[in-house]
Amino acid sequence: MASSTAHTGFRTSVGRMVDRALALLDLPDGTGDALKRCDSVIQVSFPVRLDGRIEVFTGWRAVHSTHRLPVKGGLRYSPDMGQDHAEALAALMTYKCAVVDVPFGGSKGGLRIDPRRYNEPHLERITRRFARELIRRGYISPAENVPAPDMGTSQREMGWILESYRDLHPEDINHIACVTGKPVELGGIPGRLEATGRGVKYAIDAFFNEPDAVREAGLEGPLSDQRVILQGLGNVGYHLGHLLQQKDGPRIIAVIERDGALFDEKGLDIEAVHAYMLRTGGVEGFPGVQYERNGAQLLEAECDVLIPAALEGVIHEENAGRIQARLVVEAANGPCTWEADRILGARGITILPDVFVNAGGVVVSYFEWLRNIAHVRMGRLQRRHEATRGQHIVSAIEMMTNQTTPDWLRDSLTRGTKEIDLVRSALDDTMRLAFQEIRETREVESNGTPLDYRTAAYLIALRKVLRARMDLA
Ligand code: GLU
Repeated sequence: MASSTAHTGFRTSVGRMVDRALALLDLPDGTGDALKRCDSVIQVSFPVRLDGRIEVFTGWRAVHSTHRLPVKGGLRYSPDMGQDHAEALAALMTYKCAVVDVPFGGSKGGLRIDPRRYNEPHLERITRRFARELIRRGYISPAENVPAPDMGTSQREMGWILESYRDLHPEDINHIACVTGKPVELGGIPGRLEATGRGVKYAIDAFFNEPDAVREAGLEGPLSDQRVILQGLGNVGYHLGHLLQQKDGPRIIAVIERDGALFDEKGLDIEAVHAYMLRTGGVEGFPGVQYERNGAQLLEAECDVLIPAALEGVIHEENAGRIQARLVVEAANGPCTWEADRILGARGITILPDVFVNAGGVVVSYFEWLRNIAHVRMGRLQRRHEATRGQHIVSAIEMMTNQTTPDWLRDSLTRGTKEIDLVRSALDDTMRLAFQEIRETREVESNGTPLDYRTAAYLIALRKVLRARMDLA
């Protein structure tokens, strides 16, 4: 999967998209520049001894905006990592948090490394050393800068970072909140692993629950009538695909992965493809469906909804003119370059932007951080009380009506809410509200022709950031 952000640079591409929203705000000269720039970026290089040899690694952590603290965003392990990526992705985090009302600034970082080339003990040593470099310089802390998993990292790395932080700051009563997306046994929250994919599903649901939105995009019918192409079956793509295949889901006609794409007009079984990938490392050879070695070609295939859920820059100047989907749902960060965004827009293709669509991860990270600094499980204080109240309501109704409550209703009223239920419903609510706000903003600001969803989302984000920045008021 080739990325094409190299042409403009990822940071420039994001900046140009922000410019479109800035042009709609009447701001003093220089404000836009102040909003777009990263507050600080650190680059660290450090040696690690691996099986008798020494290897030097380079990593970055960019802080885009500290209008709210802590700043938040993932740590990515990728051979493409560099300062430009860190800055672009940190800026996206600021806007993303603002769009979904998460009171954090934006940050992002990572290592230039291909994690698949290292074994677990090596990755542990590299991660612990990287974490120490960042912690010593104040680039990881519960109050100021809180990483999370991103491409190439997972719960496991967050666990190592947490331990490194605790070793260096044993006195910090909130040490557990220095990273999110950690294993549940180490203070993580149930539902964080699936959160980004689930958030994308809620974003899609919010869109399809709005008949006007569907019509404006040139689509017809409910989500179950749509034909979907999904790029990437990593953490985000897999959980999304899994949820899309539950009751009343659309047909996923193609899956694009690193080693090629699978196509089946009748619809692919995502669970089976994912299990096959885990077993063989790729999709090639998956039985009974069409295989295409040049996976990127499938981005251009005929479908209703295209969901890039992998890398940045996969829809670019060269292929944007051939995309046939009516709706592009940006589950990845920055999958459309600025040029592609303009080409798709001119062709009347609707884009649901990354800063809204994939915000579910950081939304649930926020819940995890709250749980950590509160030192209590979500719902612990009211769970039993709610269950008892539910029991009283059931008894009262039964007494008044002389009828028995069906078992399913009794269960649901008397069970007491589980933490995972709270997380999922709060995520659903957040995505719905954010979508409504974006819809309203694009109508209000449009003078007749509605704004595109991305510009509306940026407009919301910029206003919120401006309200919180006294130095720019
Ligand atoms: N890496 C995720 C993102 O890009 C999550 C960030 C977080 O939870 O802090 O949104």
